[in-house]
Amino acid sequence: MRALILGGTHDANLLADAVARAGIDAVYSYGGRTRAPASQPLPTRIGGFGGVDGLADYIRREGVTHVIDATHPFAAEISRNAVAACAATATPLIALERAPWAKMPGDTWIEVHDIAAAVAALPDAPARVFLAIGRQHIAPFGTKPQHAYTLRFVDPPAGALPLPDADVLVSRGPFTLADERTMMRERAIAWIVARNSGGTGARAKIDAARELDLPVIMLTRPELPERPRAESVDDVMRWLGHRACLGA
Ligand code: NAP
Repeated sequence: MRALILGGTHDANLLADAVARAGIDAVYSYGGRTRAPASQPLPTRIGGFGGVDGLADYIRREGVTHVIDATHPFAAEISRNAVAACAATATPLIALERAPWAKMPGDTWIEVHDIAAAVAALPDAPARVFLAIGRQHIAPFGTKPQHAYTLRFVDPPAGALPLPDADVLVSRGPFTLADERTMMRERAIAWIVARNSGGTGARAKIDAARELDLPVIMLTRPELPERPRAESVDDVMRWLGHRACLGA
């Protein structure tokens, strides 16, 4: 057995710990978006494979027998590639994917399907907006330059941002409810734009928004092809034929 973990998320890191503890031969793959990715207890590779064909070649060359797609639910391209490459190589695939967050009493959500709709949903009157989205998606918000934007990145931005009024926090999650409450209060955040990632790692900002009665423009998940799914590290370990690791 040789497992390939497509990672870059908190859940993928928990899975890597469990897989390493179980002594499974595995490789952890990062997309290469952050400058100093967290170290893993498994051999690690960084960077794209070169599309479906590149991933299929990698699977054959490295003798990968199981692929676990533990990437972020909004990382749609790699997830689509994994479905196609696993089909092409007849390699079993499972996605480790937490259920999306469900709206709770007290939540004020405006659900949108894409970034253009998120920009359109912002008010016209100037407000302070927390953009809790990847840096590759912020440019369209430049069409609403009246707002003051707060952004949070793992690495400092390399160049100028496409927003006239941007306050950048450089910090790596996960964040606690107290962290998020304090950040939103101190910065007088009035609107939040977030993706429905699900899971616990990114959830605190949504709980803080509810507490502070702030509206959230919530991006729904991209559509992905049908694939087997697991919602927990224990489920993936069972799929790999190992007993679930307590505490994983
Ligand atoms: P994406 O749009 O789905 O992927 C773009 C390309 O990046 C893929 O086609 C692939 O290149 C490469 N890639 C992505 N993830 C990879 C991985 N784990 N290992 C090897 N290559 C990978 O992905 P994205 O939204 O840019 O996210 C990139 C990474 O950041 C993912 O690992 C994801 O888990 C992590 N992440 C993303 C988000 C998010 O909001 N999207 C949030 C937290 C973490 P090739 O086609 O050349 O193979």
